[in-house]
Amino acid sequence: MYLIIVQYKQKLLVFSFILIGLIVLLLSNVFFTERFAEATKTQSQLRAGRQSNAIIGELKRNQIVPFLLSQDPVIISGLSTGKYTIISERLTDFVSETGLSELRLFDFNGNIVASSKANFTKGAETIEPRLPTAEDSKSTVFKTEQLNQQNFKFSYLRPIIDKGKSIGYIAADINLNQFEERWQSPFEAVLISDANGQVVISTEKRWKGKNVSEALLLEGPKTAINRAFHLAGGYLELNNLSNFLDGQAVMRVDVNIPYNSWRLSSFSSYKSVRERVNAILAIEIMVFSIIVALLFYSLNRQAQSQTVALKKESDELRALNLLLKDEISIRKKVEENLEVVEQSLIQSQKLAVLGEMSAAVSHELNQPLAAMKTYLAAAKLLFDRRRTQEALSSLQRIDDLIERMSVITKQLKSHARKVSDSLVQIDLREVVTNSIAIMELNLKQNIITIDLNLGKTEVLVLGDPIRLEQVLINLIRNSLDAVKEESKPMIEISLLIQENAILRISDNGNGIEDLDSLFEPFYTTKDAGDGLGLGLSISSSIITDYGGRLTARNSETKGAIFEIELPLLRDDNFNPLNKDN
Ligand code: ADP
Repeated sequence: MYLIIVQYKQKLLVFSFILIGLIVLLLSNVFFTERFAEATKTQSQLRAGRQSNAIIGELKRNQIVPFLLSQDPVIISGLSTGKYTIISERLTDFVSETGLSELRLFDFNGNIVASSKANFTKGAETIEPRLPTAEDSKSTVFKTEQLNQQNFKFSYLRPIIDKGKSIGYIAADINLNQFEERWQSPFEAVLISDANGQVVISTEKRWKGKNVSEALLLEGPKTAINRAFHLAGGYLELNNLSNFLDGQAVMRVDVNIPYNSWRLSSFSSYKSVRERVNAILAIEIMVFSIIVALLFYSLNRQAQSQTVALKKESDELRALNLLLKDEISIRKKVEENLEVVEQSLIQSQKLAVLGEMSAAVSHELNQPLAAMKTYLAAAKLLFDRRRTQEALSSLQRIDDLIERMSVITKQLKSHARKVSDSLVQIDLREVVTNSIAIMELNLKQNIITIDLNLGKTEVLVLGDPIRLEQVLINLIRNSLDAVKEESKPMIEISLLIQENAILRISDNGNGIEDLDSLFEPFYTTKDAGDGLGLGLSISSSIITDYGGRLTARNSETKGAIFEIELPLLRDDNFNPLNKDN
């Protein structure tokens, strides 16, 4: 799931980056195209201004030449006297100094008589407008002469006055056609139109002699600029984006030449703009491609490192799994060992109980046997002295002791039976009296005050009377041991009826040393041979078997308090024999 989200995020990242790239390309295309177009327009305007200045300069520079020549005495006298050769030489000198294309001299009738060119044809020449006369001889006249469809001659004409009379005129042909070659460019076309709108100078030969609008509609232009212009179908406004997006549009700049109402029109191609913008876009695309490549590379690296991390993680998990398996098998073994130990402990507990019981039994049987021996000796003596009545009472005592011994052996027999077999309804008060009867001798020997509070009603519980007696005897014996050193030894046994039956045995001994370990098997504070430390643990498990519990605490005043708590036998009470409970 995590991986899917990461992949989705990566895709989104790449996609948005490409989208941003496209937007940047589009915006920079618009921005740079406008900027470069603006720059191109400014450049075109400047260039058109310069071109116009060049034309004016050429015209102005040569305007003085006819005037100077009209004042030249060699020319005046040569024209009057017909010495044209000298004049021709003089004109050739002038042409080489001024850069004019030709200087020509006409006589009064309009016949060419001298020229800067050696191979000129003498004779009449049609010159329009009419020849300068004496009336307007003061000025120099500019004349544009169309030689054929595409050739124009630009001349300054001035009359030559001798003694107040016009005797001829001088024509200075200005070389304006030189600019057509100079201004040739793959990105630009230039035309100059006269006051009538006729193209007189142009970098595109086919435009010449035509009206401007006519010329611009001309088909099949050779140069790139003409082609572009043709495709655009006329000149286009700068701010219209579509005009230059195809790289074909052109921009027109018109400049008025302050001479004879001439007008210069310059057409620049946006091709250069397009090329520059394309160069920038190419750089941008390159940068974006590099960034996208780097992005892919880093994403790939990331994915690789994630895979490595995942692999490492799963390796670790596998190793952990193996460790856990080992751990489990070790635990299993330990559990098995524990079971064995537990079994052997139970075995030794049984043996210990057996030992304790044997000690108790032999102790219990030895007492009446010793007493019987004494009574028997006494009876013998009494019979010898014929004190039959007393002897019989001694024998009766012996009979009582035998009876008691049989009780003990019965108890031993019942001890051997299983717990469940011997569960019966018993009155706890009987358990107490029986136990005290068994312990009577010990109690008497120790001169101990026994305080019994058993009540008058029977307290019925379910259990095995012999085992319950065993528990009680154990508790009484412990109390006896605890009060041994006391000056006023006292044991109190009370039977309380609350929710459960509670049999409380308290003494005024030194109290319990370690409450936490009290019920642990083999916990004893007694000397070796005096106690094994199994009594309380066995007693506790017997009471638990009957659905009750054995608890112990120290008295707030002095001594220990043990409580056997057993469920009272009522109809609805817990019955350990009933498996449904
Ligand atoms: P044992 O009597 O063989 O030591 P028990 O399990 O009956 O074994 O008792 C364990 C220990 O509990 C005794 O050694 C003793 O320290 C303590 N104990 C039992 N009853 C009393 C008591 N009434 N007062 C003080 N300590 C007691």
